[in-house]
Amino acid sequence: MTTNISNIVYNNIDEWTNIRENMYENIFNALIHCIDDKIEYNQMGTLGITEKQRLYLMEIFEEELYKISSNRKWAEDTTFNLIYGIQGFIQGFIKNNKWRILFNSLDAIELANILFENIKWQLDDDCHIPCLLEDVPKYRCSECNRISSFTYNNKCEDC
Ligand SMILES: [Zn+2]
Repeated sequence: MTTNISNIVYNNIDEWTNIRENMYENIFNALIHCIDDKIEYNQMGTLGITEKQRLYLMEIFEEELYKISSNRKWAEDTTFNLIYGIQGFIQGFIKNNKWRILFNSLDAIELANILFENIKWQLDDDCHIPCLLEDVPKYRCSECNRISSFTYNNKCEDC
């Protein structure tokens, strides 16, 4: 056991993957919900992420990250970083007067999809490391009962 982000022990990779996919689905739905909203969406053309959206997403992300880790501090810090990352991405366009062009070329669903892929890439898209979730899952070995961050055929690296 190398790190101590999560207080949850998973039985196998499938269990972890299902829980992670469920979290991604909830994050995706939250993005759609707050971006595909006429009033907020119109303001996004000048502001990027609105204050109302930021607060709403913070609440959802924190809850979702807490569900997979049982670690409130980590969930809060990671949420801050995820939203900060998205805001920084948008600010780069705003500062160069390119945001309006990009914004006008997308509809709400497309914009939500882009932000979702940004978040998923940061968390873990299964295509690169390091990523924010790489040290989260811990597994119980079906052979020796030891808890490890590695699992293969439900067994730890020693079994
Ligand atoms: Zn073992």
